[in-house]
Order: sequence, then structure tokens, then C-alpha cells
Amino acid sequence: MERIQPEEGLVRVTGSEARHMIRVLRMGPGDRLVLMDGLGARYQAVIRTVGRDQADLLLERTLPAPAPSPLEITICPSLLKSRPMDLLIQKSSELGVAAVQPYTSSRSVVHLEGKRLESRLRHWREIARNAAKQADRAVPARVDRPEPFESLLAAWRDRQASRVILWESEEASDLKKFLRGEGRAGAVAAVVGPEGGFHPDEVSAAGEAGFSPVSLGRRILRAETAVLAVATLLQYEWGDLSLESQ
Ligand code: SAH
Repeated sequence: MERIQPEEGLVRVTGSEARHMIRVLRMGPGDRLVLMDGLGARYQAVIRTVGRDQADLLLERTLPAPAPSPLEITICPSLLKSRPMDLLIQKSSELGVAAVQPYTSSRSVVHLEGKRLESRLRHWREIARNAAKQADRAVPARVDRPEPFESLLAAWRDRQASRVILWESEEASDLKKFLRGEGRAGAVAAVVGPEGGFHPDEVSAAGEAGFSPVSLGRRILRAETAVLAVATLLQYEWGDLSLESQ
């Protein structure tokens, strides 16, 4: 749910969250649950009363938030069609990615504007929130407004972060070499291309903005598969895809 503002310790839950609680989970007065506000706060709460699609809960105590990933991963995908886009946002949020920053480039096939864009953004953010809940992650992946490829590169040019652009035509460097060659970074951005790939000029422009082109091997992956692979590998090599304390 959104920001939790208890009034005399009581919080009202409405809308789809309340319906899920009452109709799907069949919860009622006296049942206990964990409430999260998506900003990192978590509470143990007990249901006091339920209505048709609202419930009043009493906050009993604040719970410690699970630690976020020690590695700040930003995934920059081209805008893809709705199913692959939904999938990559859901899985990125589960895998502990900090942000998804979509862009449009010369071969992007999807362009969104106006009301359709706003409703997509709401939809993506809800997917990220639900995935974070399911993954027991306190704060979901941030989903940014899509921007032109050049602005994305300009925004990263002077940042303190490791940067890669996934390019299937790269012959000299692959992600494995890159990750093991560089010192472990605290922040990393990975750019993944659209269905039709990158124009070579776009890869050079990314290079000028500090992105190293890297291959993920000889098989050509769909863009959403490449996103899942790079998010997983980054967490595995530099992040917290393990039980070691960081
Ligand atoms: N140019 C392509 C395929 C694009 S695949 C074509 O149309 O034939 C979509 C994106 O996934 C690519 O732009 C790239 O960022 C990433 N990708 C897929 N397979 C890859 C690989 N083997 N190595 C690196 N990146 C890959």
C-alpha cells in the first residue's frame, strides 16, 4: 500500500489490497499480517474490522526491513511490447534490481505517449510493487519514465557507476570477463537493446558515455531474456545472490 499514516494506531486498507485480503485470503478480525508501505516501512498489524472492500487494522509493532541489495543495479531496456516488458519488470524487481530505466532508440518498435504512457507506468509500478512483496523486498524496483536513448546516455555520462551495453556483435569482451576484470562496483547500469538490436552508431555513442560493450555468448537472446540474464549475473558476481553476509 501507499504511505502508512496511522490515526490512533488504526490504518484503513481499501481497494484491491483490501479485496485480496478479505476475499482471496479470507482474513477477518483478529487475523495478523505484515503491512508494507513500499517505502521500506513494515509493520505487524491485526485486523479489527472488515467491510465489503475495506479493512481497519491496528498496528502492533514496527518490523525490521530486510536489507536492500548492496549492489545498486539499474537495468535500461528499450521499450518492448507489453508482455516482455511486464515480465522484465516483474523479474527485475524480484531479483533486487534498484531501477528500471526504459528508453527508445532507432529500432525500438514501441512508442508510448500521453494517457497510454501514464497508464502503462502505473501498471508497471504495480507489477514492481507486487513482485517486491512476493520476494519479501521492502522497496520495489523504481520504474522510470521512458526517455530517448541519447538522454539516457547523457544522464549516465558523469555518474559513478560501472556501465555495460549488451551487444551480440561484440567480439572482444564478454560480461564474465568484464565483471571479473573490473573491481567490484557499488553501482552498475546495464543497457539492453530492442527486439531489432542496436545500430552500431548507438553502441559507439554508448561507448563514449562510458558503457563497455559486452557479449553474453553466441546465442541470440530475446531482449527480456538478456535482461534476466544480466540482472542475475550481476547479482551473482557483485551482489547478494548468496547467503554470504555483505
Ligand atoms: N540484433 C538482433 C537481436 C537483438 S536481441 C537481431 O535482430 O537479430 C535484443 C537485445 O538483447 C540485444 O540488443 C542485446 O542487447 C541483447 N542480447 C541478446 N543476445 C545477446 C548476446 N548473445 N550477447 C549480448 N547481448 C545480447
